[in-house]
Amino acid sequence: MVDLKGDIALITGGGSGIGLGIAQEMIQLGARVVITGRSADKLEKAQKALGKNCFFYVHDVTDKAHHHELVEDIENHIGPVSILVNNAGRQIKKPSVDISDAEFDEVIDTNLSAVFALTREVLKYMLPRRKGAVIFISSMTAFYGLPQVAAYSASKSALFGLVRTLTVEYAHTGIRFNAIAPGFIESKMMLAAMEKDPLRKEKVLSRTPVGRFGIPSDIGKAAAFLASDAAAFITGICLPVDGGNAIGF
Ligand code: NDP
Repeated sequence: MVDLKGDIALITGGGSGIGLGIAQEMIQLGARVVITGRSADKLEKAQKALGKNCFFYVHDVTDKAHHHELVEDIENHIGPVSILVNNAGRQIKKPSVDISDAEFDEVIDTNLSAVFALTREVLKYMLPRRKGAVIFISSMTAFYGLPQVAAYSASKSALFGLVRTLTVEYAHTGIRFNAIAPGFIESKMMLAAMEKDPLRKEKVLSRTPVGRFGIPSDIGKAAAFLASDAAAFITGICLPVDGGNAIGF
């Protein structure tokens, strides 16, 4: 049912973590993927693991002046981008009163302003073809309050606004816009932090009905589905992929 043969997916931050999990799943389903990030080493390693259907560009999403060049180069040398996954993101964890304006802006720039700018650039190519799926990686911080992540939660909540506006503007063209809110997904950093703070680990797992952390392929499978024609009538939503964490008591 989920088939991505003939698709080309641009996945920001696709060299590690959730982005890499999404790239893996999409390649398995027949897509060619372009992964981006700031570290060439990380991208090269990922490209070797993913094989000949993976391409990479060293590109910082906040470098908006080069978005046009990036997308044009992919279109000219790899092919038409039919899937965009806005995955790259960052957070600064601090008590709200200690966050400087510059820090707040940095997080908003990466997680929101750059996401809009890149989406706008890709849309210019998708619209004439009347085909495309855009996916935004949000967060549980858009559903409930977590301390010390004011800029991060503001940026991840704002993605819902983008999804809704873009959907009502462009749904008639055949382009779909959806968000995924991952629950607590395993990464080396996250596991190390949880080991240092057993109470937090217990709290997260106690309100996650399936009783485990997620893994990047959990998000990858959901993203592949939302990007595929199997989800042709699904647009304008935010799908929690969280083992029930958003509704767990
Ligand atoms: P990782 O740190 O493992 O991956 C982030 C990726 O984004 C890296 O490959 C990084 O590469 C890239 N990246 C970061 N900043 C930029 C930038 N300015 N330009 C281009 N690439 C960038 O994190 P996760 O996989 O955990 O997170 C991926 C997304 O999922 C984020 O948006 C995050 O907010 C979201 N998320 C994660 C959750 C989790 O539990 N892990 C839960 C909810 C949401 P490089 O440093 O080389 O640029």
